[in-house]
Amino acid sequence: MKPLEQLVRPNIWSLAPYSSARNEYSGHEAHVFLDANENPYNKPLNRYPDPLQLDLKEKLSKVKRIPSNKIFLGNGSDEAIDLVYRIFCEPQKDNVVAIEPTYGMYKVCAEINNVGYNPVLLDENYQMSADKILNVCNKDTKVIWICSPNNPTGNNLDREEIIKVLTNFDGIVVIDEAYSDFSTEKPFRIDLGLYPNMIVLNTMSKAWGCAAIRLGMAFANESIIELFNKVKYPYNINLLTQQQALISLQDTFEVEKWVTTLLQERTRLIRAFSDLDQCIKIYPTDANFFLAKMTDAPTIYNYLVNEGIIVRNRHKVTLCENCLRVTVGTKTENNELLAALRKL
Ligand SMILES: *Cc1c(COP(=O)(O)O)cnc(C)c1O
Repeated sequence: MKPLEQLVRPNIWSLAPYSSARNEYSGHEAHVFLDANENPYNKPLNRYPDPLQLDLKEKLSKVKRIPSNKIFLGNGSDEAIDLVYRIFCEPQKDNVVAIEPTYGMYKVCAEINNVGYNPVLLDENYQMSADKILNVCNKDTKVIWICSPNNPTGNNLDREEIIKVLTNFDGIVVIDEAYSDFSTEKPFRIDLGLYPNMIVLNTMSKAWGCAAIRLGMAFANESIIELFNKVKYPYNINLLTQQQALISLQDTFEVEKWVTTLLQERTRLIRAFSDLDQCIKIYPTDANFFLAKMTDAPTIYNYLVNEGIIVRNRHKVTLCENCLRVTVGTKTENNELLAALRKL
């Protein structure tokens, strides 16, 4: 890995971050707060929330087995994705490399930040070749985006290939593990200590059932986390989100039950789905959704919309011609989907 100073944008490296009222007194006990122009009434909403979310990180640290100082929390993983560009990628100069097809936000954020985006096609099994990825990198490539289990394909990428990218690339490698709670493979998060250039993304939006509160996280070595903290908005995680996340994290048992149920339903749904005349193939999945190649995805998609059932039409995505991405729902929802398709 190159020294961080060479990877970070010069303006970010030299940035003096905003110092909030709450940063400045830290370390002292206090009970009268007349420093932040808050309203003294309307407790507890009157006070700015903890800018570094320390209570929540302590709890997450236990659940995720990552030290608190290696955790960044964002307004969804999407904030972390955007910050990676703003920290490492000089607009109009630097570029990133990503697998294709994958999650759409990596590309959208590249375009917003005016950073070059180089997609590298997966093979016909939706697997990644480390050599192909590394060959596309040049001296201005700052970041490689990997998503495993991948969206919209559902599969885990080959572990050896990911490790090859991590160990041979001298810039930042982001591994988005939004779906790792559904996967049987060991998450890369656990190996954080082995790869100083790795950033792992997690989210409360999928297995944890909290898409509404908008809480995503990045795990990385402390010096990278410090950069995230420097660039983020001072109070990026609101109080209600911090409180609700603490409550939800109390109930890891409930999450495990959801995951078990969803994986059982996934098996059942995939079996029934493959028997449909309109289904040509279902791709292997390690997530709470699957990708199905259909006879005519757009027509089936529109038919389902008219029935009040929404799946994701991925027909226009590279390598996903005539594919629908189906999220596993409750047993009742899945049965409704199957019933609608059977009468088509
Ligand atoms: C759903 C999803 C996310 C989650 O994004 P949030 O902003 O945390 O809701 C991140 N990455 C991938 C690949 C996803 O599919």
